[in-house]
Amino acid sequence: MPIETVNPATGEVVKTFTPHTSEEVNQKIEAAEEAFRSWRHTSFEERATYMNRQAEILENEAEKYGRIISLEMGKPLKEAIGEVRKCALACRYYAENAADFLADEEVETKANRSLIAFEPLGVVLAIMPWNFPFWQAYRFLAPALMAGNVGLLKHASNVPQCALAIEEIVRKAGFPDNVFQTLLIGSKEVNAVIEHPHVKAVTLTGSEGAGAKVAEKAGQEIKKTVLELGGSDAFIVLEDADLDKAAETAVKSRMVNGGQSCIAAKRFIVVESIAEQFLQKFREKMQALKTGDPLKDEIDFGPLARVDLAEDLEKQVRQSVEQGAEVVLDGGRESKDSAYFKPMILKNVRPGMPAYEEEMFGPVAAVMVVKDEEEAIQVANDSRFGLGGAVWTQDKERGLRVARKVETGAMFVNAIVASSPEMPFGGIKKSGYGRELSYLGIREFVNQKSIWVE
Ligand code: NDP
Repeated sequence: MPIETVNPATGEVVKTFTPHTSEEVNQKIEAAEEAFRSWRHTSFEERATYMNRQAEILENEAEKYGRIISLEMGKPLKEAIGEVRKCALACRYYAENAADFLADEEVETKANRSLIAFEPLGVVLAIMPWNFPFWQAYRFLAPALMAGNVGLLKHASNVPQCALAIEEIVRKAGFPDNVFQTLLIGSKEVNAVIEHPHVKAVTLTGSEGAGAKVAEKAGQEIKKTVLELGGSDAFIVLEDADLDKAAETAVKSRMVNGGQSCIAAKRFIVVESIAEQFLQKFREKMQALKTGDPLKDEIDFGPLARVDLAEDLEKQVRQSVEQGAEVVLDGGRESKDSAYFKPMILKNVRPGMPAYEEEMFGPVAAVMVVKDEEEAIQVANDSRFGLGGAVWTQDKERGLRVARKVETGAMFVNAIVASSPEMPFGGIKKSGYGRELSYLGIREFVNQKSIWVE
């Protein structure tokens, strides 16, 4: 894929970038290593000063950076601004808490003194996707830099301006040179970066395929990875749910980021006694959503990020319908070369169909009707993915019980699945491994070192 900004709302190629040569990439890796040698010895207070300054820039200039996000990947401007502001939260959270999260832990043993120390690893490569081009990058950047690591960002090829903007913000915040750099490279050039001896670890957010390739290479090099991959989150509606709230949240959760979120609700598993009632409310609300120019205030969702993503989604729908899925709400693409995709709801989604087996990365909801709670859990767990999920019931104890039985990295009872700095984020099964955010996230890329003093 060329590294370029293509406005998905219009198809216009806005700007094309010359990729960094392998020589330039090597220079950047050397510069990162050089920066690490002094950055690792800075105090948490000093790091926090830059991190808080960065938070201020993100807050003060949220609109400017939000416009770049909307231009490159098509999300509504108001959501893009919200995304930039959320990055400031992560910066402040780690600025405030990193010292505690990484403080020495004294352990009782037969030694005079024994402790666990958390030391930075060095240069960490982050391979990031286009769907939350700021938030995904900051989920890595804030804890990594606070831990004393330095970062290299290989962003998705369709969001180069976002990638360069993040580098600019880090610089403006006063971080020392080369503590965080963007590599403008395609995915084919990533292996050489992973192989480089100065690069100590890799984190990737993206598709299962990209995760497997990167993990394979990192495995050969014996380098630590964190993978945050796709999801096909279940949204379970039990017979005692508040159906109005559930339907309202179902729409929000399916349509978050125009449907392009790993933790969007994708499989709606509804108990049969309330299925028709729920479906009617869900359908009405989905149908009422407005699309259009991402920069306009009144729209609910913009185009998908790229035309090829809309084509892939269309194919998944077509195959599912050919295999017997019933279209309850018709939508889809307006024309062959458009990235716009109107919401759809499919019913009678069964094993073997793409809508059942695969991640649907866009505004298509797959509905499955089940007998009862037990079958709902069984269907929820019948997925290759295990990222997030939600259950709706007015009985909170029941909600908790169901939440414990669903095999995912996160479960929400009567709430939308979302990430927040305080809670760990990540999956099991094909959704990946390792955790971002919380104190667990900052401990992924550190040497958890045992020190024994006799
Ligand atoms: P990819 O997984 O291909 O892209 C994500 C990131 O990985 C990009 O930076 C990409 O770079 C990079 N990448 C891709 N292949 C490799 C590789 N072999 N080695 C190293 N880096 C690689 O996602 P797509 O944009 O193609 O989207 C396809 C599907 O992936 C979506 O429909 C969705 O299902 C899933 N996805 C999931 C996301 C999530 O949040 N979990 C986010 C985005 C996508 P480049 O852009 O240069 O190819």
